[in-house]
Amino acid sequence: MNNNSSIHSLPEQPRIFEMFIDGQWTRGSATKSVTRYSPSHNLPVSVYPSGSAEDVDSAVTAARRAFEQGTWARGTGESRSVVLLKTAELIRKHSEELALCETFETGKPIAQSRGEVLAAAGIWEYAAGQARALHGDAFNNLGEDMLGLVTREPVGVVGLITPWNFPFFILAERLPFILASGCTVVVKPSELTSGTTLILAGLLQQAGLPAGVVNVLTGPGSVVGQRICEHADIDMVSFTGSTEVGRLTLAAAGGNMKKIGLELGGKNPQVVFADADLDAAADAIVFGICFNAGQCCVSGSRLLVHRSVEQSLTAKILKLLEQVKIGDPLDESTQVGSITEQRQMERILGYVDQGRREGAELLTGGHRIDSAQGMYVQPAVFAQVTAQMTIAREEIFGPVLTITAFDDFDQAMSIANDTPFGLAASIWSRDLNTSLRAMRQIKAGRVWVNTTIAGGPELPSGGFKQSGIGRETGRYGVEEYTEVKSVHLQLGDRPRWIQA
Ligand code: NAD
Repeated sequence: MNNNSSIHSLPEQPRIFEMFIDGQWTRGSATKSVTRYSPSHNLPVSVYPSGSAEDVDSAVTAARRAFEQGTWARGTGESRSVVLLKTAELIRKHSEELALCETFETGKPIAQSRGEVLAAAGIWEYAAGQARALHGDAFNNLGEDMLGLVTREPVGVVGLITPWNFPFFILAERLPFILASGCTVVVKPSELTSGTTLILAGLLQQAGLPAGVVNVLTGPGSVVGQRICEHADIDMVSFTGSTEVGRLTLAAAGGNMKKIGLELGGKNPQVVFADADLDAAADAIVFGICFNAGQCCVSGSRLLVHRSVEQSLTAKILKLLEQVKIGDPLDESTQVGSITEQRQMERILGYVDQGRREGAELLTGGHRIDSAQGMYVQPAVFAQVTAQMTIAREEIFGPVLTITAFDDFDQAMSIANDTPFGLAASIWSRDLNTSLRAMRQIKAGRVWVNTTIAGGPELPSGGFKQSGIGRETGRYGVEEYTEVKSVHLQLGDRPRWIQA
C-alpha cells in the first residue's frame, strides 16, 4: 500500500455544478441533487442537479434549434476546426484542474489523470484536422451525360452517453468528432463522474462554440439516459458503457429508428506463444490488468499462454505484481488507485469468490486492502482457469487475471474467440507468421502485437460481436456521425421516356 504524503490537497467544500443547456448554466427542473464522494477519501467532492426527462426535452430543443439554424452545421470545416483547436488549448491550460476533478471523482492516480487530460487535448487537435479533411466522393466514370457525387452531411442531433471509467478521455474520443462532422449534441456523462464534462462545457463556451451546439445534462441513466435514447427528435445515439445497458439503449432507440453507435464491454485475451519475449509480455500483462484498477474496457483480463511457458510467465507476473504501487491517488507515485464505486468493488470481490468456488486456483490478491479510507483491491491472479468458468467468460471490470494454458495455435485461437465479446486482443510472439495469422483469426476490433493498450486517435476503435456497433476516432470517427447522400447530375438533355 502506497501511503506517501501527497502534495495535492482535498477540497474543503464540494464543487457545486449546474447543467449546461442552450449556452446557460441551469438547474433545469431538478429538485434534487446528487453528491459525489471521492471513492479514495470518502469526502464529498461534487454536487450535481439530478436532471429529469423535462431537462432532456429542453436540451434537445436547444440542440435542434442550433442544428437547423446552421451556423455550426452548415459552416465551414475551417470554422469548426478553429473552435476545436481553441478548446484543446483551453484543456491544456486547465489540465491540472481537470485532472484533479477526474481523480477526486474516479479514484484514479493523479499522474494518470493528468496524462489522460493531456492526451485528450491531443485528440481534440486531431479531430480539428478531421473537420477540414471530411469530404465525399465523385464518380466521373458514368459516361458523358452523368456525374455522380457522394456528399456527407451531419446526421443531426446526437445524444452522447458516457461511462465512469475514463470520463474525460472517452468524451474526447467522441465529442470533437461529433462536432467536427457538424452535428449538435446532448451529452449525459455518468452520474458518478460528471465534473470534467461540465468543466469542458465552460471551456467550449470560452472557445466560441455557439449556444445550443453542446448541452450537458446530469442525473440518473435510467431517467436522463433512457429519455435521450427514446427521444423522437434525436437522430443518433452514441453510447459507451456496459453491454447490458447497451442492449436497453438499442431497444429504446428503435422508436424513431435512430442511428446508433455502441462501445460496450470486453473480455480481452492476451495470447502468449512459446517464442514470445516473456519479460516484455509479463510487464504488459501486469499493466493491462492493473491499469485503471482493471476498470478498463480493453483490459487484457484473459491470459492464454502456451503450456510450455506457463510456469515461467506466471512467476514473472507474480514478481512484477509485488512492485505495483497501490494507494492514495493523490500521491504522484501511485500506479493503481481506488475502485470507483462500492457496488463495483463488491462485484469484483464476488467474482473472486465465484472463481474459487468453480475450482480456479487463486495465486495472489483478490481481497480488499486494509486501509482507513478508500476502496483498494489487491490485483488477483487465477491459474487453472478453464474457458467455461464464469471468471473467464464475464467482464469483471476489475484487477482480476485468469490464466488458461493452450497446447497449439488452433486451440489458442478457438479459446480466444470463444466469447460473446470482441473488443480487443493482444498477441505475443517473435514470429511474424504466428503473430499475423493470429491477428487475422482473432475476432476483435483492436489487436495489439507485442504490446497492449497502445495507440492514438489516428486508428479507429470499436468492437466486434457484442462489444459494439460502429467505430470511434480516426477518419471513421467523424464519418460515423454523417449521413451519405448520393447525387446523380444529368449533364445536357435527359434521354426522353416518351418520344415527341
Ligand atoms: P453503464 O452501462 O452502467 O453506464 C454507462 C452510461 O449509461 C452512464 O452514463 C449511465 O448513467 C447510462 N445509463 C444507465 N442506464 C441507462 C439507460 N437505461 N438508458 C440510457 N443510459 C443509461 O456502464 P458503466 O458502469 O458506467 O461503465 C462500465 C462499462 O462500460 C463496462 O462494461 C465497460 O466495458 C464499458 N466501456 C466500454 C468502452 C468501449 O469503448 N467499448 C469504454 C469504456 C467503458
